[in-house]
Amino acid sequence: MLDKIYNILYKEFGPQKWWPTTTKNKQFEVILGAILTQNTSWKNVEKAIKNLKQKNLIHPTKIAKSNQKSLAKLIKPSGYYNQKADRLKIIANFIIKNKNLEKQSIKIIRNKLLNVKGIGPETADSILLYALNKPSFVVDAYTKRIFSRIGLCKKEIDYHELQKIFHKSLPKKTKVYNEYHALIVALAKKNCSKKPICRNCPITKLCKKSL
Ligand code: SF4
Repeated sequence: MLDKIYNILYKEFGPQKWWPTTTKNKQFEVILGAILTQNTSWKNVEKAIKNLKQKNLIHPTKIAKSNQKSLAKLIKPSGYYNQKADRLKIIANFIIKNKNLEKQSIKIIRNKLLNVKGIGPETADSILLYALNKPSFVVDAYTKRIFSRIGLCKKEIDYHELQKIFHKSLPKKTKVYNEYHALIVALAKKNCSKKPICRNCPITKLCKKSL
């Protein structure tokens, strides 16, 4: 069922080309974006990243050395900017201390990330998948909403339970996880919003529409 949904969404929306980055230091830009996107829309993250880019700050050492108040001002568009400035400095120091992170196993990296202040499962998996190219499926509010409406899980399903469903049902491939999460976001924005537009939804025939 999950692969069937993937194929329909891919056919409908095409490749989503995630994670969108604009600088040479793609890996660190994704990590910054994964933190900045907490509780805000991507449009706001883009503005914050643009400000950081203009000050040439898309680099762990530069963020670690930056003045926290000035950093907060630059990322203001992303909301919770004082807290996020603190978190950006923490993750920058973490990256400086943990060189060659991608050479370690998913389990070890994930545990390390989850021990960093401000990083929960969704942010940890976003960093694993989109910055470090590791197959760790990202579950977000859209995933819970869509797949509970389809009838594949309960609305209150736990993060890791839902992640397990994806891990068990799909080939363990970064490319597939990368695209699938992005396609879920596309469907949530186009059809399966808070008030779903089921009429022209590409997966309407497979969905129980448990609202
Ligand atoms: S058919 Fe409706 S409820 Fe089901 S996924 Fe599509 S938009 Fe959401």
